[in-house]
This record gives sequence, structure tokens and C-alpha cells, in this order.
Amino acid sequence: MTVDQVGIANLPNQRFKIVSKEGATFTLMVAGESGLGKSTFVNTLFQSTLKTPVDNKARYKRGIHATVEIEVTRAELEERNFKIRLNIIDTPGFGDNVNNKDSWQPIVDFIDDQHDSMMKQEQQPARGDKKDLRVHACLYFIRPTGHSLKPLDIEVMKKLGTRCNLIPIIAKADTLAQKEMNEFKSRIRQVIEAQDIRIYTPPIELDDQASSDHAKSLIESMPFSVIGSGEDEIEVAPGQFVKGRQYPWGIAEVENEDHCDFKKLRSLLLRTNMLDLILSTQELHYESYRTLKLESAETGSKRSRRLHNPKFKEEEEALKKYFTEQVKAEELRFKQWEQNIVTERHRLNKDLEEVQATIKDLEEQVKRIQLGKK
Ligand code: GDP
Repeated sequence: MTVDQVGIANLPNQRFKIVSKEGATFTLMVAGESGLGKSTFVNTLFQSTLKTPVDNKARYKRGIHATVEIEVTRAELEERNFKIRLNIIDTPGFGDNVNNKDSWQPIVDFIDDQHDSMMKQEQQPARGDKKDLRVHACLYFIRPTGHSLKPLDIEVMKKLGTRCNLIPIIAKADTLAQKEMNEFKSRIRQVIEAQDIRIYTPPIELDDQASSDHAKSLIESMPFSVIGSGEDEIEVAPGQFVKGRQYPWGIAEVENEDHCDFKKLRSLLLRTNMLDLILSTQELHYESYRTLKLESAETGSKRSRRLHNPKFKEEEEALKKYFTEQVKAEELRFKQWEQNIVTERHRLNKDLEEVQATIKDLEEQVKRIQLGKK
């Protein structure tokens, strides 16, 4: 891979300065059902880009939900003396379990844990090197069914989209015809909109026509379709090799824009939008997490302060007393009202009895008069 293809050094100067002091760390997560070609894709993406071969595999297991093992692979990218520490987070096994909730929870927990860990490190007085595994982009692989998103996809994508830069991917693009792919993409876009799923959108920079056109073309292509290939390249002409999958009818080429969006996605991740992904993770996702955590901690501590503060205790006692008195007074009023009704009913009954007696008297008088006439 040539220097220009990775493109970190092509980042606009001002932004370049922001990261160039310490180099940068970029953490990419792949998620989605197993067997969709996530590992293959990661290898294809970094095959010729990695300075060091994929190494340092670390398995991440979280206490309660250990149904999915999250695997962190570290590597390094270097270009014109500019280093990028790369963390690739693979989430194998997703969607295999009977209870699918348990299979995606560790992924969501992992993202939250990294934000949490950064918050804790920032609170430490000694500001040494921070361990930072915050996910800058999460590629969510969608099965190329040609129909629509599954309820499980919707559920997981919703959770991921509020926590990190979510980039939906259609896996194994070579299994759908162009027309089917276009229809599938448009149905997915409709569901994403209707379900309010937050996905990463490249910012459109109005003052730069070329980059704004590029951003628009990236947005229009979402969700990106990809093809992953094996390590061996295919010889298409003597001495000319391509990454792809060989079929009896021809080759599905990874880097052919008519076959899939691999090049667009690679450009977004490693060239044009890497810094935006890093910055928006800090400014949007991490800050939202932090604010939410601090707010809930404050509400919690306010409640506990109220419970333990003698002043609040007095106030609370006084309020309790006031309400008890109010309730008592109300009960008394109700009792009196009830009593009044009873007395009134007695009086009415008595009146009724008197009226009935008078009627009876009158009827007897009438009878007597009638008998006298006869
Ligand atoms: P993971 O479980 O999502 O990591 O999937 P793997 O990377 O292990 O791939 C599962 C299977 O799908 C393997 O047999 C791959 O060769 C195959 N595969 C990977 N990418 C593609 C692709 O783009 N198209 C096709 N047709 N098969 C692929």
C-alpha cells in the first residue's frame, strides 16, 4: 500500500496538528451475527496496511455476561513517521445463542466500560498514559437477505447507535445482484429512519467542495456493501492481481466500486473521516455518557444527602406532621358529614312516617264517610 492510500498525513493541517503530538489511537469494533465475514473483512481491510502483523490478541471477558468473548487485537499503522495505534475489537459468537439478549449485552457493556474507565482515569491525580479502548467506530454487519433488517438487528443497532459511531455494513455483497442490493439498501435506510436508529453521518464541509462531494457520496452509499477476501490475491492478467472471490462466472472484486463499497468504507475509516470519528467519540459519545453518569450520581447523592441531613430530616418530619393533621381534619369533617346524613335520614324517615300516618287517617275517614252515605 502506498503512503497516500492510508492518508493520515493527508488530513487537513490544523486537524493534523491536534493528533500529531502523540500520534493517535483508533479503535474499530466489528459486530453482528457470526459467520457474516467480520474477521475476513478485518483481514482484508488491514492486510496491506498493517505495519506489524496482527498480534497481541487479548481476550476480554466481563464478569456477569461471559457468553461472548470479545477479542482485542492491537496493531500499528505508520505513515510519514505518523503513528496510529490500532485496536480491532472482534465480537465473535453474536446471535448464536438461544437467548440473544445475552449475546449482545457484552458488546454494549464493553463500550460503556471503556467510557467508564476513561472517566475514572481522568479523576486520578496522576495523569500518566491513559488506557483508552473507547470504540471510535462500530461496523455492524447485516446479513445479505435481500429483505430487511431483523428485529434483533434493530434492537442492537439502537443500543450501539446511542453509544458510538455506528456504521451499518451489508456483508457478503457478492451474494446479491446489483438491483437486489439497491432495493435492500433502500429498505434498510427506511427502517433506520423509521426506527430512529442513530448512525454515523460524515459531516458535510460547506467550504470545501471536493470534501463535501465526497461526504455526500459516502452518505448516499450507506449502508456500505462489502466483500471480504482471502489472503491470496487473484491473478486477472499476467502479473496483475486483485483482491476478490473467484466464481465460475467471474471474480467479485473487493476494490471494484461496481461490485461493492469497500473502497468508500476504507476511505471513510482510514483516510477522510478517521479524525472525525475519534473527535466525535470524545465530544459526543463520551461527553453524553459522562453527563449522564454525573447527573445520575448527583440525583443519587442528593437523595442520600436529603436522607442523612438533619435539616432535611426536620423539614421532612414537619411535612409528615402537617399531612397527618390535614388527613385527620379531613377524616373528622367526613365523619361529621356522615353523621349529618344519618341524622337527616332519621328526620326524613320520621317525616315520612308522619305523612304515611296522616294518609292512613285520611283514607279511613274517606271510608267512614262512604259507609255513612250508604
Ligand atoms: P465472522 O464469524 O463474522 O467473523 O465470519 P468469518 O470471517 O469467519 O467468515 C465466515 C465465512 O464467510 C467464511 O467461510 C468466509 O470465507 C466467508 N466470507 C467472508 N467474507 C465473505 C464475502 O464477502 N462473501 C462471501 N460469499 N463469503 C464470505
